[in-house]
Amino acid sequence: MFINDLTFEEMKSYIEEIGEKKFRAQQLFTFFNKNKKWDLNSSSNLPKDLKSLPVREIKIFEEYHSKIDETVKFLFELNDGNLIEGVLLKYEHGYSQCISTQVGCRMGCSFCASTKGGRIRNLTPSEMAGQIYLVENKLGINISNIVLMGSGEPLDNYENVIKFFDIIHDENGKNLSNRSITISSCGIVPRIYDLEKLKKPINLAISLHSPFDEDRKKIMPITNRYSIEEVLAASKYYSEGTGTRITLEYTLIKDVNDREIDADELIRITKDIKVHVNLIPLNPIKEYNKGKTSPKGAKKFQNMLLKGGINATIRRELGSDISASCGQLRRKRLENENSKAN
Ligand code: SAH
Repeated sequence: MFINDLTFEEMKSYIEEIGEKKFRAQQLFTFFNKNKKWDLNSSSNLPKDLKSLPVREIKIFEEYHSKIDETVKFLFELNDGNLIEGVLLKYEHGYSQCISTQVGCRMGCSFCASTKGGRIRNLTPSEMAGQIYLVENKLGINISNIVLMGSGEPLDNYENVIKFFDIIHDENGKNLSNRSITISSCGIVPRIYDLEKLKKPINLAISLHSPFDEDRKKIMPITNRYSIEEVLAASKYYSEGTGTRITLEYTLIKDVNDREIDADELIRITKDIKVHVNLIPLNPIKEYNKGKTSPKGAKKFQNMLLKGGINATIRRELGSDISASCGQLRRKRLENENSKAN
């Protein structure tokens, strides 16, 4: 057990269990999650025996600043030496950070770099929160939006992700509103229903990428487990139960999912759901070198959706000079190390 992985409730129980004074729980929780510190020895108000509690640390390993916009990409080092990545994006209304939820991923989407080496392990709550705190500390900023869209499938690490939500939302810590959090998933249906039961207005984004099961199976193996119909039914249920709008992420791949029949079918299957479609230009990786839809093609696809009454935007390409897409940086780094070793 690492003390900073605990939610405030868990910390209170733990402190009671070890016979410490009640108020110590708040001191500890605040130390990690409000003061954003790791080294208990630097605390002036904790007693000695609490200072020796095991803490899980995470560090900034490298950072890359885009020269074309204000995007910053971070590689973080975990206490077992694993590397994960996150991206800080600057928008008009503030800073948004995209964080990883697993080391690697086991979902096997064909176009995604994060999954190529499989899943190494889940991230713990403090390792997710740490990605935020380190960047806030380093740049002296306040991150006002968090998206779980980095490496990993958050709903494949459900318990830790829920604890992370508790920690980041807690008024004794960062106190971030649930509406400022987005969880992105390839569509693990039972976990979407579990998430709805929490009745928190956390935004749900679903990586759809094709409206046809047969086509989606070719790029997203999870479709063999849960059909598009099941994923959308769960999403609708989530949207209605939490009062949130669903985002559908749709990476445009030339002649694979950017045809007129794709737009028509997408319009048909999302008719009765409150959705917003986020069209993402493909960021090609070497294992998946299918073409990128041209900007003109993307605009055309967007217009077809808009005409069909679907709200759709094209995601701006931020930080394209620093491999700012999912898992590409860590992978590059691992490949460099392998080639050095050979
Ligand atoms: N596992 C989660 C979150 C991580 S991926 C999910 O599936 O949603 C975040 C988003 O980036 C997903 O929509 C994913 O499909 C997309 N993505 C991954 N690799 C990409 C690439 N090379 N080009 C464009 N989008 C990509």
